[in-house]
Amino acid sequence: MTNYICATCGVQHAASDAPPEHCPICEDERQYIGLNGQRWTSIPELQKDRHNRIEDVSPNLTGIGTVPAFAIGQRALLVRTPNGNVLWDCISLLDDATVEAVRALGGISAIAVSHPHTVGSLVEWSHAFDHAPIYWHADNRQWVMRPDPAFVFWEGETKTIMDGLTLIRCGGHFEGSDVLHWAQGADGHGALLTGDTMQVAQDRRYVSFMYSYPNMIPLNKRAVERIVNAVEPFDFDLIYGGWWDYLVLDAKSALKRSAERYIKAIS
Ligand SMILES: [Zn+2]
Repeated sequence: MTNYICATCGVQHAASDAPPEHCPICEDERQYIGLNGQRWTSIPELQKDRHNRIEDVSPNLTGIGTVPAFAIGQRALLVRTPNGNVLWDCISLLDDATVEAVRALGGISAIAVSHPHTVGSLVEWSHAFDHAPIYWHADNRQWVMRPDPAFVFWEGETKTIMDGLTLIRCGGHFEGSDVLHWAQGADGHGALLTGDTMQVAQDRRYVSFMYSYPNMIPLNKRAVERIVNAVEPFDFDLIYGGWWDYLVLDAKSALKRSAERYIKAIS
């Protein structure tokens, strides 16, 4: 039995004797199947020619991404706090060197995800770190490809994982899309870790909000306003997107200006 990984989205599926026939995540209109058709790989296959880059992004915030890039190429973030570390989003590759390096940084107390596209082999990661709980919004439950007792399906609009780390459901890209508010981030001014819930634009001065990024399907005005309103009660100066170097400064006003520009464009 193998836990196959979809080569397009990078998500690991439940164990099977042969590669699954379908990846529901890639067959959904928010994703796509690669040009060469549905392909599968596995962690042992990825270990042959890839490794993970582990590098501090800011004080107490470590990026973890795969080199060469795999699937959609996101990098995870490890938020380090005195009460324990939270892994935000995940990647497909896990190997001994990564486990050792992350243990040296204090390990992983909990895993939380923005949405089902950026989760990689998160169950494998949970198992490697003492079955760390995986916080997953209940509204995205149908998109769990490898069920496991580590999942904590949280409901409602916010969920505090530990002191100063709060999940905020924004919806939009997925009904259960969320962001992680890190109160101690940005030198205590607060930071948001956003994945695809707010996608950092290439100019790094704006974010955008799409139902599908690869297939270019926008969200409507109501959905965009809901995202902005969900984070409004929180203080934040920085937005960390889902890829290396995707960072927005002066983030609260950048978010407002991004929403205004977006709504104007679709009106
Ligand atoms: Zn996505």
